[in-house]
Parts: sequence; structure tokens; C-alpha cells
Amino acid sequence: MNGRAASHGRALAWFVGLVALAAVGLLIASAFAVDVDRIRDAWVELAVFAAMVLLCEARPITVVRAGGVDQLVTSSTFTFALFLAVGPLPAIAVQVVASLIVDLVERKSAQRLIFNASQYVASWGTVSLAYAAVLGGFEAWRPSAMLSPRAVAAIATAAVTFFLVNSALVGAVVAISKGTSVVRGVAALISREAASDLILLALAPVVVVVTDRSVLLLPLLLLPVFAIYRSAAIAAEKEHLAIHDSLTDLQNRLGFLSDLETRIARRRADADKAAVLLIDLDHFKEVNDTLGHQAGDELLRHIGPRLAAGLPEGSCVARLGGDEFAVLLPSVIDEHQALVLASQLCETLDEPFRIGEFNLEVEASVGVSLFPDHGTTTELLLKHADVAMYVAKRCNSRVELYDPEQDHHSTRRLNLMGQLRSALADGQVVLYYQPKLELRRGRVNEVEALVRWVHPELGMIPPAEFVPMAEHTGLIRPLTSHVLQLAAAQAKAWRAAGIDLAVSVNLSARSLHDGAIADEVEAVLLEHKLPPGALRLEITESSIMADPTRAKRVLERLHTAGLHLAIDDFGTGYSSLAYLQELPVGEIKIDRSFVMNMMEAEADQVIVRSTIELARNLGLTSTAEGVETEQALRWLVDAGCDHAQGYHIARPMPADAVAEWLATNVPTVRGTDSGSVVRLFPPPRSRRAGGSH
Ligand code: C2E
Ligand code: CA
Ligand code: CA
Repeated sequence: MNGRAASHGRALAWFVGLVALAAVGLLIASAFAVDVDRIRDAWVELAVFAAMVLLCEARPITVVRAGGVDQLVTSSTFTFALFLAVGPLPAIAVQVVASLIVDLVERKSAQRLIFNASQYVASWGTVSLAYAAVLGGFEAWRPSAMLSPRAVAAIATAAVTFFLVNSALVGAVVAISKGTSVVRGVAALISREAASDLILLALAPVVVVVTDRSVLLLPLLLLPVFAIYRSAAIAAEKEHLAIHDSLTDLQNRLGFLSDLETRIARRRADADKAAVLLIDLDHFKEVNDTLGHQAGDELLRHIGPRLAAGLPEGSCVARLGGDEFAVLLPSVIDEHQALVLASQLCETLDEPFRIGEFNLEVEASVGVSLFPDHGTTTELLLKHADVAMYVAKRCNSRVELYDPEQDHHSTRRLNLMGQLRSALADGQVVLYYQPKLELRRGRVNEVEALVRWVHPELGMIPPAEFVPMAEHTGLIRPLTSHVLQLAAAQAKAWRAAGIDLAVSVNLSARSLHDGAIADEVEAVLLEHKLPPGALRLEITESSIMADPTRAKRVLERLHTAGLHLAIDDFGTGYSSLAYLQELPVGEIKIDRSFVMNMMEAEADQVIVRSTIELARNLGLTSTAEGVETEQALRWLVDAGCDHAQGYHIARPMPADAVAEWLATNVPTVRGTDSGSVVRLFPPPRSRRAGGSH
């Protein structure tokens, strides 16, 4: 426990002690008003009301609010009825006994037990003084005999007094234990509960009148009490839902922000720091896509308890949305402690999660920002934790503390995303084309379209810097449409110029899982009056494997429309052979990471060679990407690869450079004046099934 928590503990102990002391004094004062005859006369009321008090105490309505847990107890109707009909001491006795029983059963701490009992004694004791003051001495209320304005005033005074004193005591103890403002805590409690509490108290005289007539009528009265109970429960539920996430029952963004706000407002000493941890699961989408949403949901539900288990008391765990969680550490000594806690948090996720029949391993990236060092507003703290989290993800470092230096990059990232839509409209987003060489005949009849953003200030921005971001911000749709339009228009222009080039377009994972893509491609072809063969599509192996069932459906639709499909970046996505056979694809593109190193790395060479063979056995063509040397190109020819693409053949280039390149370069590549080239382009072999296009 740190210093501040200890001082809260001391303040709390003092407060509880004072309330207990006041309770003893008031108890003695109320003892003078005991009316033994009345207790004997009204034993039925005593028994019935006592039973009701106990029942209501045992079934409180739990209200969870941003500041903590509140319990709405509905026993006050019957305690007040007892007070009026039998006298203060029986009311206090019954209420205290009921409260003690419930607290003991629920194993509340001794302090809670003492406080709850004392606050009831103190409240009802004060009420009896107020009631007696208005009435001019205590007298049990006999409804049939006493309906004077004075009696009514006394009853009203008693009800209001109870509500105010009780709210003040409860509001104060909650505020003191949390170290928040007592005045604000009490005021909030009063305004929040005035309606329900006063109605409950106002029912008491009615209960007394009815019971005076006949106890048998009492059940009728329970109906409105039940109605109040129900509506309070519904209101509580609504309030709970507003700040909680329905899937995990953790706090949601709103709840988290409000907790963070409270924490910021409570700032006292300079040494007082808090930490915001933003946690993002790595590869959650893949879990969701491969095992289904139910498994994904199940996993999310398991995360909260894991996270909470390793945290210091008073910390708050929230789910901000998707696979993003946040933790508020309300009190840390320094950044070192925050980072240690963040690392421990990551470790709690190391143990695999048992979801259905699977053991899922989950990794997370955590970004940490500190209050007040990295910001004094909720927005800044969250934003900076987000920046740090992004760095942790990118560097694979699990935990990162916010560093203003890094912010530079993320600001650029955010700015770019803000500009992308208008950049599309302004024509800043263009396509470069990289030729693909058919090895057997030494011809180029296809180019791959690679998107580039020619930014007026930042210059050429590579796709790796904005395509993934576009995927995350919903801009991938307009981007994909733009690319398809440009590619189709270019294919059309080449055709018009007598150049027969198919243009291959990269589809992002998002597009593949968004069913509309097949319609869109068909519409683009129609619009430009192009045959399906003019456009080809590349889909990465990992995006197919992210949701194989859905991917297969979309691919089938595209295939039916006559489009040639290639699996891109093959070798990185763990697809099974059996599955591959079911897909309507015509080509495998071997990931450039294998091809680039294969002349040095035996293992890569084996992968490339077996992928070429795999493709052949499945009746697919093979393309090697990332061919950077003459040596690699020759090796590929020998290995029987169908196509090659890479810097050694040509770098991606603007459309108008392509025609020129074709005119000047391909013939020299195709020339037969040196022995090596003869080996490069051996005479045509017999065509394999599906092996050509
Ligand atoms: P990719 O589909 O694997 O594209 C090939 C990438 O390898 C291109 O990078 C290309 O410039 C590069 N490359 C080609 N030959 C060589 C070589 O010999 N050596 C090396 N080291 N690299 C070579 P680029 O243009 O930066 O594109 C990167 C990735 O961005 C692409 O990988 C593709 O996944 C994605 N991408 C590009 N354009 C689009 C697009 O229009 N839409 C979508 N969704 N993704 C795109
Ligand atoms: Ca590609
Ligand atoms: Ca590729």
C-alpha cells in the first residue's frame, strides 16, 4: 500500500469511529422514547415490518456507477413504518439486526459492519429527535387518532431528515474511502437518489394506515414497493450498460474515460502519477476469422479477468472496442513501475486460453502513457498511449512508454489518413506498373499495378505506409475502387495503342471479405468495355487464410466472372495443400522473401523449388517475385518456373514508361546471342493443363 492509500485508510477509520460514537449517543437519547405498552400492542406490526426490513436488506439493488458500486436498499419503507407505528428504538433495533445479519452472511469487513450498523443508528436517532421536536415529544403514531397537520409535518420532517442524514453519511464514507471530494460525493448521491428514496419513505405512513386497518391488506401495498424496486433495477441496469461493455462486462470507453477524469481531478501532490495502458491483441482478427466470431467473443471475455488478476487494487480494466483494452493504474511511483506492471500484464496473457477445443496463444502490445508527464487530459493520455502501443506493435517490443519523438510518425500517419480521400480525388494516388516476364517465351504480357501516393509535400509514399492504414480506417474501399478504375483505364489505353497487356491488381484482405468486390470488378470491366482477361487479381495467401470460407466464396464469384486469380506472397500464410486445391486460382506467386535470398540460403531454395513443383502438380502457373539477379533468373528457368518479376527485370514504373521499356528491353532479354540466354529461354515445351493463359 502506498502513502496515499494509507492516509485514506486512516481518514476512513476516523470517520467510521465518529459515526459509531454519534450512534451510541443517539441510541441512548432514543432509549428515552421507548414505549413498552406500544410495543406490546403493536407486536403484529413489529413482526411483519421486521420481516419486511430483513427481506429488503437481503435483496438490495446493486447499482454500478463510474465511481464504484452502490447499493440501493429498499428497506427504509418498513423501518420508517416501524418507527412511526412502534417507536424509534424498535425501528433501530430491527434495522441494525437486519444489517448485521446481511453483512455477516456476506462476510463484509468489520469496518463495513460497524459503519453500516452505526449509520443506521445515527440516522434513525437523528430522525427521532427531529420528529419529537416537531411533535413536541415522542409519541407513536396512531393513524386513527392522529391526523393533525402537526403530525403530518412531523412525519414529513422525519422522512426528509432520514434521507439527508443517511445520504450524507453514506456519500461521505464512499468519498473518503476513494479519496474523492466529500461535498461532491454527497451532493451527487442526494441528487441521484432523492426520487426513489423519498418515494420509499413516503410509502411508510400508508403502510402504517393499511396495517392498522388489517395486516391482510399489506400484500396489496407491496405491489407499489415492488414496482419501485423494479424500476430502480431497470434504471440501474441501464446506467450499467451505458458505461459497460455488454460482451465482457468490463467498463467501456465511456466508463473508462469517466474514471480517468475522476483520477485526473483528484490530483494532489506533484509526486502523484497515474498510468494509462492501452492493450491491443496481436492477430485477434485471425482468431475471429479462422475460428469464428463466437470463439473470438469467448476469447475477449477471458481477457478481462486475466488482466484484472495481476493488477494492483483500485486499477480499472476496460474494453475500448474490438480487441483493444485499457487499464488505468491510478497510482504509480514512476515510469519504471508502470512499465514493470505493463510487462507483467503481458505475461498474464502468455498462458494459452482454452477456447472450445483449442488452446489459443495470445500476444498483446501495450502502450503506456503517464499522468501528468504525458498529458493532463483524458484525450491526450489515451492518444499518447495509442502512439506508444502502435510503436510496440511495429517494433514487436510488447511494451512501450510514450516518447514524444515517436509522436512525429503517428502524427504523420494520422495526417495522411485525413488527406487520403481528397488525395484520391486530386489524382495524387497513381499506379506504377511492374512487368512480369514469361520465362518460357521471354515475353511480357502482363504487368502488376502497384499503387503510389505522390504527395505534394512528402513526395512518393510507398503503399506499405498507407494501404494498411487505409484498411484500418475504412478508406480501403475508395482506395480499391480508385486502383481498379486506374488499372482498367490503363489496360484500355494500352489496348487502344495496340499493346496487349493484362493488368494485375492487388486486392486487400478487407476487400476480399467484403462481398461487394466481385460486383465492383465486374462493373469496372463493363464500364471500360474490357474482357475479363484484361484484369487479373492478386490476393495474398494470408488474407485468404484469414477467413477461408468467405474467401472461397468471393474467389469463386470472381472466377465465374472469368477473372484470373493469383495467390500472392505464397509461403507466408500456412495454407494447406488440400485447401489450396479447392480454390479457383490459376497462379501462385512465390513470396519475394524466399526468392531474394535463395541463392545464398539453401532452405529458401528448397522452398522455391518445391513451390514451383507444387504449382505444376496442381495445374497452376508459378511466378517468382523479387528476382534481383541474373543468377536467380537463370536458376528459376532451370527449375521450370513460369514467370519472373523483380528489379533485375524491371522496377515498377509509370504507365508511359512501360511502352518504351517494352519496345527497348524485352527484345534484348529475348536475344539468343549468348549461351546463357539460350538456357534462359529454352524452346517451348508442350503446354500443361492450366499452365498457360
Ligand atoms: P506485392 O504485391 O508483393 O508487390 C510487390 C512488391 O515488391 C512491390 O512493392 C514491388 O515494388 C516490390 N518488388 C518488386 N520487385 C522487387 C525486387 O526485385 N526486390 C525487392 N526487394 N522488391 C521488389 P510495393 O510497390 O512497395 O508494394 C508493396 C505491397 O503493397 C505489395 O506487395 C502489395 O501487397 C501492396 N500493394 C501495392 N499496391 C497495392 C494496391 O493497389 N492495393 C492493395 N490492396 N495493395 C497494394
Ligand atoms: Ca502483388
Ligand atoms: Ca507479393
